[in-house]
Amino acid sequence: MNEPTNEQMKNEAKVKQDICEIGRKVYEKGFGAANDGNISVRLSSNEIWITPTGVSKGALQPDMLVKVNLLGEVLEGELRPTSEMKMHLKVYEMRPDIGGIVHVHPPYATAFAIAGLPLDAATLPESVVLLGTIPVAKYATPSTQALPESIAPHVMNHQGVLLENHGALTWGKDIQSAYYLMESLEFTAKINWIARQMNGTRQLSIERVKELVALREKMGLQGETPTGVICPPGMDVCFPSEHATTPAQPLTVKIDEQQMEEIITRVTKAVISQLQPPAK
Ligand SMILES: [Zn+2]
Repeated sequence: MNEPTNEQMKNEAKVKQDICEIGRKVYEKGFGAANDGNISVRLSSNEIWITPTGVSKGALQPDMLVKVNLLGEVLEGELRPTSEMKMHLKVYEMRPDIGGIVHVHPPYATAFAIAGLPLDAATLPESVVLLGTIPVAKYATPSTQALPESIAPHVMNHQGVLLENHGALTWGKDIQSAYYLMESLEFTAKINWIARQMNGTRQLSIERVKELVALREKMGLQGETPTGVICPPGMDVCFPSEHATTPAQPLTVKIDEQQMEEIITRVTKAVISQLQPPAK
């Protein structure tokens, strides 16, 4: 094997620094507790730097990282690679255009993953354009072969997935894009959650979403986007008609004065009859 050139060594040092920096960011943002999460960067078609198992993402050092090939064989490094490596390798195998992957457990996105709710509503223009839809990958036990299999159906048409009852995974052309997608994903989940509390999950109309999709295509972005909803003519935003999250209507029953008097009389009679001693 040829010795790596100075240029290659500089590049690898930079890649390892980038992984550590993203690790600190996700840890500081509360995207995971203790040793949660894992990050990887593709160096060449068959070489990947990935985070080790059992180390907090906030305490990563470049010499802790592990270099593996697409089969998961360790090429360099002292520690064991993350137990969730198979999920990363699956994405790299299916998408030669992907250069970086972030997996974490951000609270709002993970709550959507626990509830089994995809992020597919056309609620925020930025999310429609930059994030597209984020589906839920069927539950699979972490570290097993079932996990890469559960994400496989979503890898080609999306930029990330929610892992059912587990967390979130994003992939991008480089590690920065994968990280920013994770930030957007969590931000979208958080805002949608807050809007749900206000019973106000109104969505953009199909017409408005079409404009955003055109913008997205101009930017060279691919993948599935939310569809938008049918709104009454002239409205850009409305509650979806199907599975609608309509604003809660207070339950009002109109009672006129005469009805009210009858009710009072009946209640009074019932109370008095309870107070009278039983007839002997
Ligand atoms: Zn995880």
